Amino acid sequence: MNSSNSSHPSNPDRFELQHGSTSAPINLEKLPGLYIHIPFCKSKCDYCDFYSVTTSTSIPDFIDALIEEMRMYRELFKSFDTVYFGGGTPSILPLIQIERILNAVRMNVNLLPDTEITMEANPGDLDLGYLTSLRNLGVNRLNIGVQSFNKGILKFLGRRHSVRQAVSAIEDARKAGFSNLGLDLIYGVPGQDKALWLETLNQAVDFEPEHLSCYQLTVEPHTPLGKRYAQGKFSLPSEDLQYEFFMMTSEALEGAGYVHYEVSNFCRGMAFASRHNQKYWDHTPYLGLGPAAHSFLTNQRWWNHRSVDRYHSAIERGEKPVEEAEILSLEQLQLEAFYLGLRTKKGICVRDYSTKYFRDILAEKGKSFAELQRRELVVLENGFVHPTRAGLALSDSLALI
Ligand code: SF4
Repeated sequence: MNSSNSSHPSNPDRFELQHGSTSAPINLEKLPGLYIHIPFCKSKCDYCDFYSVTTSTSIPDFIDALIEEMRMYRELFKSFDTVYFGGGTPSILPLIQIERILNAVRMNVNLLPDTEITMEANPGDLDLGYLTSLRNLGVNRLNIGVQSFNKGILKFLGRRHSVRQAVSAIEDARKAGFSNLGLDLIYGVPGQDKALWLETLNQAVDFEPEHLSCYQLTVEPHTPLGKRYAQGKFSLPSEDLQYEFFMMTSEALEGAGYVHYEVSNFCRGMAFASRHNQKYWDHTPYLGLGPAAHSFLTNQRWWNHRSVDRYHSAIERGEKPVEEAEILSLEQLQLEAFYLGLRTKKGICVRDYSTKYFRDILAEKGKSFAELQRRELVVLENGFVHPTRAGLALSDSLALI
């Protein structure tokens, strides 16, 4: 997170929320989301840049710390309508520990009756018994990290699950009663041509998931994949080819009845859009618990230690495990809202933008929008500026206008 224009509390370990530093009414009318980061994986995938460890830190001790951290925020965050278990690999947790977390959540905060409770899961961890219990604990949305239905691609990515395990995880999830099921897929993998990607996409669609996330492979330098790339062991698809993959994915999934509602996300009708993730895109507050988790409230963002040990030490000292915090200026919030809005199909509501961020974007960017409209990258209609499919593909550069 760029924090060059932001102020930092001098001692983040003693982090306290700063008051009254903006006049922008940033979505306080919407209920916050609760994110819980489970920082454990059985093994690291070759491309992974998320914070997780494979050491056998005691899971029960970690859950104790997590519950303690939750209590520290009781006064600040009182009600939620989404809970999201991310990681790492949340499905590594024994059911008893998931139950402990959810009991603690229900005891410490108010969860709305129709709260969306999502869990990310690795196909290799799932069986019918586990999934049925998960559903009975109140988890009502499951996101399975399938990534590919091709054995060679899974091997290239260093995933520990097999195609067969992915298929039976999906089938078992349905049998267990999950009626809001998401699958994560990756494209743009070396060795994966368009036909191979389309095969995976079609197989995914055959299961009729309510949600699909299709991510383009990014190669981070410090990952095993990044090192292999630096050694010249493989090449990545050109920008033109990446664009073609993106357009093909969007066309195929919209043709199959999905709404392409964000750059990487598709849903079978907006009722199945991720309620939790949408909070990240419109400055709704969220609380992140666990190592490396980020939080946002009004105009402040803070994030926890990216280390299980430092996280535990802070909790043991009775301190919030915050590594760093920033106060976002109104200008930073405006820029973020602009950038994030152009990554969604809904786009930017001109009137809301002016109410929340005190700027008339049509007056400021009217000429640029007209040019983008001429190039069929955005459409201005009914008070919204929203990207076309080609605009979504190029949303990073749209935001630079
Ligand atoms: S399972 Fe997920 S979090 Fe864990 S190493 Fe693989 S990609 Fe990263």
